[in-house]
Amino acid sequence: MAQTPKNIAIIGSGLVGSLLAIYLRKKGHTVTVFDRRPDIRTIKFSGRSINLAMSNRGWRSLEQVGLEAKIKEIAIPLDKRAMHVNDKPVYFQKYGKEGEAIWSISRGILNKRMIDLAEEEGTEFRFNEKVWDIDLPTARLYTGESEKGEWKEYQYDLVFGCDGAFSRVRHKMQRQSRFDYSQDFIDVGYKELTIPANEDGTHKLDKNSFHIWPRGQFMLIAMPNVDGSFTCTLFLPFEGEVSFESIATEDDARAFFKEYFPNVRKDIEDLTKDFFNNPTSAMVTMKCYPWTYWNKVALIGDSAHAIVPFYGQGMNAGFEDIYMLDKLMDAHGDDWDTIFSTYQKERKPNADAIAELSYRNFVEMSSKTADPKFLLQKKIEKHFAAKHPEKWVPVYSRVTFSERPYAEALAIGDQQEKIMKEVMGMPHIEEKWDSQEVEHKILELLGE
Ligand SMILES: Cc1cc2nc3c(=O)[nH]c(=O)nc-3n(C[C@H](O)[C@H](O)[C@H](O)COP(=O)(O)OP(=O)(O)OC[C@H]3O[C@@H](n4cnc5c(N)ncnc54)[C@H](O)[C@@H]3O)c2cc1C
Repeated sequence: MAQTPKNIAIIGSGLVGSLLAIYLRKKGHTVTVFDRRPDIRTIKFSGRSINLAMSNRGWRSLEQVGLEAKIKEIAIPLDKRAMHVNDKPVYFQKYGKEGEAIWSISRGILNKRMIDLAEEEGTEFRFNEKVWDIDLPTARLYTGESEKGEWKEYQYDLVFGCDGAFSRVRHKMQRQSRFDYSQDFIDVGYKELTIPANEDGTHKLDKNSFHIWPRGQFMLIAMPNVDGSFTCTLFLPFEGEVSFESIATEDDARAFFKEYFPNVRKDIEDLTKDFFNNPTSAMVTMKCYPWTYWNKVALIGDSAHAIVPFYGQGMNAGFEDIYMLDKLMDAHGDDWDTIFSTYQKERKPNADAIAELSYRNFVEMSSKTADPKFLLQKKIEKHFAAKHPEKWVPVYSRVTFSERPYAEALAIGDQQEKIMKEVMGMPHIEEKWDSQEVEHKILELLGE
């Protein structure tokens, strides 16, 4: 259904704001994007490159506006995990079926490309213009250089808050009665480090793998960049015996890497420089509701649902918000009341589900990967799934390689967990984990 063109403001030119601008321009709306930061296309590359994993949901949202092929040019497919366990050769775990992969992409390069594309579609960007206030009932914005300085006033038909986890737009909505809000920081932080390319520009580690060095309470991961480098992320508790707090000097940092990451240490050439120059960042789960204010203002992306990054789904979920919103615009035309109310009702349970799954993955990675019972359970699941691929699709695949709702993946995952609890309770399971008896038990519990 066609829509009457509206004058729309988007707050935030991040990944979600710039993709939403492209979608709205394609629907014929006038779109202005405000960002408090300067245009990232004009900023000299800092040398740090944060990268993200794009999976099916993200690609589907890009494909809908014809961008999948363009963006794939700047992404690298990863079809497996490379596990680096000390004193063992590296071993590989395929992510999914043949042809299934997640894609490593630099957040900066992607964001620049998306802003270019949004501009080509006719979006106006207003950088260095922070939104300080918004009058929700009238969709009026107030921007300026400082909170106390002079403000400019703008009037729009609709406003989308794509201003990230610490959203100003949401902050204003929080002052409404019956607005639910929670934020939970985890006690683990992260820091980015770089493995530079070889002299001939090739990658120092396998290019098509997501590299993990699991160490119980902490871990290091690495994803490739198109320039031959890898971006590593060190996840470590803020405080405690082995923590960011306990690494205070360059000698501490060298000793830490020597003890826990001896094989990768020499590849991170600027180890101590990176460690002390790059910030230590926190991770938060943020939930809120409602996401819309009548038919005037809507939150989308991290401003509505920030999650911890252990499933690699934050951006994917934000892109899926846009895809779903677009479907509702097609179905309901100018009925923005229905579009907004259905959008928040449909997306909220899915955002909560991916928040939960992401948090569980954090717990799993940090405390269960060394537990032999947990490892045995995973082995049984894998064995059964290989024999009955149509009966047991792992939750990871449901989240990453499917477009079915996140809430469905969570529900089926819980059901699978219940079944596995019974299986793990079978006597002598350690000896008979790959037997027909176990296979029949799982089939019976599945109701087959
Ligand atoms: C360590 C880490 C790893 C991650 N890995 C992945 C991954 O592998 N896969 C994945 O899908 N997701 C991942 N994510 C999540 C992903 O980065 C976010 O979900 C995504 O960037 C959110 O995009 P956004 O546009 O909603 O918000 P943001 O990227 O935060 O953009 C918000 C924009 O709003 C602007 N802004 C804020 N306030 C104002 C204001 N008052 N006025 C004007 N402008 C304002 C900001 O300057 C910014 O440009 C990861 C996150 C982290 C922290």
